[in-house]
Amino acid sequence: MELAERATILTPSLTLSIDSKAKAMKAEGIDVCSFGAGEPDFDTPEHIKAAAMASLDGGFTKYTPSSGIPELRQAISDKFKADNHIDYKPSQIIVSNGAKHSCYNAILATCQPGDEVIIPAPYWLSYPEMVRLAGADPVFVQTREENNWKMTPEEFESAMTPRTKMVIINSPGNPTGSVYSRSELEALVEIAATEDIFILSDEIYEKLTYDGTEHVSVASLSKTAYDLTITINGFSKAYAMTGWRLGYLAAPEPVARAIDAIQSHSTSNPCSFAQKGGLAALKGDQSAVEDMRAEFDLRRQYMVERLKSIARITVVEPKGAFYALANISKLGLNSTNFAEKLLSKHHVAVVPGVAFGDDRTIRLSYATGLDIIKKGLDRLEEFCKTL
Ligand SMILES: *Cc1c(COP(=O)(O)O)cnc(C)c1O
Repeated sequence: MELAERATILTPSLTLSIDSKAKAMKAEGIDVCSFGAGEPDFDTPEHIKAAAMASLDGGFTKYTPSSGIPELRQAISDKFKADNHIDYKPSQIIVSNGAKHSCYNAILATCQPGDEVIIPAPYWLSYPEMVRLAGADPVFVQTREENNWKMTPEEFESAMTPRTKMVIINSPGNPTGSVYSRSELEALVEIAATEDIFILSDEIYEKLTYDGTEHVSVASLSKTAYDLTITINGFSKAYAMTGWRLGYLAAPEPVARAIDAIQSHSTSNPCSFAQKGGLAALKGDQSAVEDMRAEFDLRRQYMVERLKSIARITVVEPKGAFYALANISKLGLNSTNFAEKLLSKHHVAVVPGVAFGDDRTIRLSYATGLDIIKKGLDRLEEFCKTL
């Protein structure tokens, strides 16, 4: 029995292996402080849950149009206008089973064998695997700490070849927490435009920015940017809805049509009652979003201060998302050894940066309570003293 090559080239998720070790230790009764979370620790706001429950009670339990129910696509179109200053018609919007699914659909619809996709590293670990599943080749651009982990126009340009089909921009970024400014994005768009390269702009952390940092949508920059960009967003991070599996993308009409065709033959439609929840999320009271953001911000400030005070660790202050990426290379261990020792000896779980394409770093999520953050950082500090 032989598996397809596309299935054998995938790297098993490193985040999951550390996570399962941490869970096994917790099950044994060990007090583990976990900085592994890739999702908000808050529950979904009540009015969103109520809307989904009411739709279930009302029998909204059947297939929906493949690209999503019209009222949700309209609400997303309105959201793009109000929040992002982008004019997307409902027909340009495809609702999918999570923003991850939206990314995958977008890559499948645009990339094929022979194509290259430029991915700034450290990157969200699913991007390269999605590119490989599409038969295309990821090309990594190592970004630098002194540039706040952001790809410069020069770095982008030097990674381009005649095969370059797409560049992925994730701002605010996971795992870096970096947020690109308007002028930084404009410079990248200018380069992409010289060769008509698609821009996949993953804006899932849009609502989570700090210190007054502005989130800028790539497609809002110019007509050129709009024509090249596929904008990804969703509900998971802003509304604490990771388990609902609901996300969306918006793209120029022909791209959206192709993506709808792919989705209609793979998953049909996103979950009917989750879509009603999504509608309530967009149309209802937004105060829960700000409450969660404010809480993340307090934790961020505490975590960054603590990390900065640990000798030989450096950290770029994250301006978005809910992660801090710490450079541990001066402590003499690679990221996997560091994470494994930290977990087994001091009972703290972090994600080794090698999973994100940077073996000098570890990722700490602050999507967990301040008490755990304090205790975990005390332990991390102790561990670093032993190295
Ligand atoms: C969490 C995350 C997503 C996907 O979220 P969904 O739960 O699939 O909506 C997409 N991109 C990045 C960078 C993420 O961290």
